[in-house]
Amino acid sequence: MISNYFCVHAHSYQPSREVPLTGVIPSETGAVPFSNWNERIHAECYRPNAELGNFSHISFNIGPTLSRWMSSHDSDTFRQIVAQDASNVERFGVGNAMAQAYNHTILPLASRQDKVTQVAWGVADFRHRYGRLPQGMWLPETAADLETLSVLAEQGIQFTILAPWQADQEDIDVTQPYRVSLPEGRSITVFFYHAGLSAGISFNPSLTVNADRFAGGDLLSHYSPEKIRSGEPQLILLASDGELYGHHQPHRDLFLAHLVNGAGKKRNLFATYPALWLKQHPARRSIGIRDKTSWSCHHGVERWKGTCLCTSVDVSWKTGLRSTFDHLSKEIDNLYLQTVNRWIPDPWGLRDRYIQVMLGDVPIKDLLAECASKQLLEAQITQFSMLLEAQRERQRMYTSCGWFFDEFDRIEPKNNLAYAAQAVRLTKRATGIDLAPAVLHDLSIVPAPATGPHPDQVFRDHLTRLTQT
Ligand SMILES: [Zn+2]
Repeated sequence: MISNYFCVHAHSYQPSREVPLTGVIPSETGAVPFSNWNERIHAECYRPNAELGNFSHISFNIGPTLSRWMSSHDSDTFRQIVAQDASNVERFGVGNAMAQAYNHTILPLASRQDKVTQVAWGVADFRHRYGRLPQGMWLPETAADLETLSVLAEQGIQFTILAPWQADQEDIDVTQPYRVSLPEGRSITVFFYHAGLSAGISFNPSLTVNADRFAGGDLLSHYSPEKIRSGEPQLILLASDGELYGHHQPHRDLFLAHLVNGAGKKRNLFATYPALWLKQHPARRSIGIRDKTSWSCHHGVERWKGTCLCTSVDVSWKTGLRSTFDHLSKEIDNLYLQTVNRWIPDPWGLRDRYIQVMLGDVPIKDLLAECASKQLLEAQITQFSMLLEAQRERQRMYTSCGWFFDEFDRIEPKNNLAYAAQAVRLTKRATGIDLAPAVLHDLSIVPAPATGPHPDQVFRDHLTRLTQT
């Protein structure tokens, strides 16, 4: 009887690298011989894994900003990936692709309203690309709190994957998923990945040289002997960045292909994925989670707003950047609500549905006509469209990569400031009200980063470039 299962989850993601105004990715010298990192990682990892059929044997999510880039850069590969999920739906009734909250925002640091939008956009993006509703959703950096999990469940998400230290108790049994109770009688299932093996495959290349050795040695040794004896099915889940397989470590696309196709089976270890597992083995035990925790470090979500114990230099710019953005968001939201309120009974519902316009599925005029309580003038349609575009940029400026590294002098935090500048410009064009002085005031008190320009200079430069066009 088969009782030992394993699941490889690949979290594939790239931040949006496009300059907001042009939509073009600037060339990145580190990525040679390719013109930017997206292209290089695609050639080394996403495409070969798709060609090997790996996306049909693992659990995976591809972040919406990456899906969008990939489906225009190499639509054949993206189609192959979608088809590999569809083949599982056909065979087992459930697919293996997971959705992701849209902008890779650290959701525990976001307002409830923003959580709702990020999840709604993630669900809609998934549906657009995979032609079905998602059952599972990957949380950026697996950052979670009870409110985030509640928002997932409210939108029909049945499960997510977290790190074991996000559970509210130690020594949990990671060979089975748990149910987390949520307000209003809801619940969500959490799969905890195997921390030791997941870190091993991510950071210890010697572990993944030979799939037969890995399956028969490291993997096999981590199953519970009691469960093997009793024949109780058990699951070991390995979670890592998808880029591990071929980009971070060369040839691991081949390792993965052999692991899920032959090496596992030889040891009676069978590849599965969360939705399929749940169909056969619903979670039986309950657990709570620790609020504001993540997979990237053991200091909660501190690194995305300031100093954590991993930090070795002064990163107080992180705190200043986040509070500037939070202040700006409040102002943008107030102007949005004041402007649309008399015509749009549910402005946040409109924002959640704006993803349909972003995906090109619905023309803005049709969406506004559906959401407005009375006929809108042409000028109002233009004005509301700009405010919704400002909302899109204001969501994008929270991309977590902007706070991940200690250095400010990188593309990620600078891009977030570019999106903020774009949101300010669009709001001004729509309402005549200029939020730039308030942003510059907030940024002026941000301590200067250790290297590179001051954030207020970066914001000013972006704004100047935007207003010149
Ligand atoms: Zn840390």
